[in-house]
Amino acid sequence: MPAALPSPLAARHTVLVVEDDPSIRTLLTSALQAAGHTVAVAATGRAAMFEAGRAQPDLIVLDVGLPDTDGFEVTRHLRAEGVYTPVLFLTARTDIEDRIIGLSSGGDDYVTKPFHVQEVLLRIRAILRRSTAQQTAADRRFPLRYADLMLDEQTHEVRRAGVPVQLSPTEFRLLSVLMSQPERVLDKKEILSRVWHYDFAGDARIVDTYVRNLRRKIDRFPPQLVQTVRGVGYCLRADRQDPTTAAP
Ligand code: CA
Repeated sequence: MPAALPSPLAARHTVLVVEDDPSIRTLLTSALQAAGHTVAVAATGRAAMFEAGRAQPDLIVLDVGLPDTDGFEVTRHLRAEGVYTPVLFLTARTDIEDRIIGLSSGGDDYVTKPFHVQEVLLRIRAILRRSTAQQTAADRRFPLRYADLMLDEQTHEVRRAGVPVQLSPTEFRLLSVLMSQPERVLDKKEILSRVWHYDFAGDARIVDTYVRNLRRKIDRFPPQLVQTVRGVGYCLRADRQDPTTAAP
């Protein structure tokens, strides 16, 4: 069975393996797990799109020949949705044209089948090293960060797991207030005063309405970040809910 590469990059990464051939999928999964990575798997392009949102991988190993679509198409869809996770294509095709299509659709590298699992691991390590350096540079642009949520006051950009989220100006202010003090419970009165600048007792139900809209946009997949603290207010938290918090 595949031997794990010594990993000087001790950081644990999540890798999504998209491959319809079960034997290759299993081979890659066990090699990646042995190298210390968390692995998510998908056997179709459709499942790959879902898993890319759910598992938020650091890298996608993407077979080109899938039963429902091809790996290039999956990559194009991901990029169109603002997901720039690096891709390592697995391709059975050897003609140079396919390689060029693959790389220009936003992928980062390719390995031709049949491959040696060690070579795949080496490529993965190189891509992760490059993308970690790029990520660090990208993150510096965002002054407010919590979990996988990023908010830029300058450009009014919001991203969750790298995916841009469109918010109304009020939703943006609400999220900015929650992100300015993450993990602190803000009561509705305080939210009213900081978001709507009400210095009197406004109708707190407007807060509930806007929180609901905000959740629909930023909490489309777990973990749910905007949490309700019953009878008090709201709080931005990435960890599992405790008994005093619950969704309304
Ligand atoms: Ca295949």
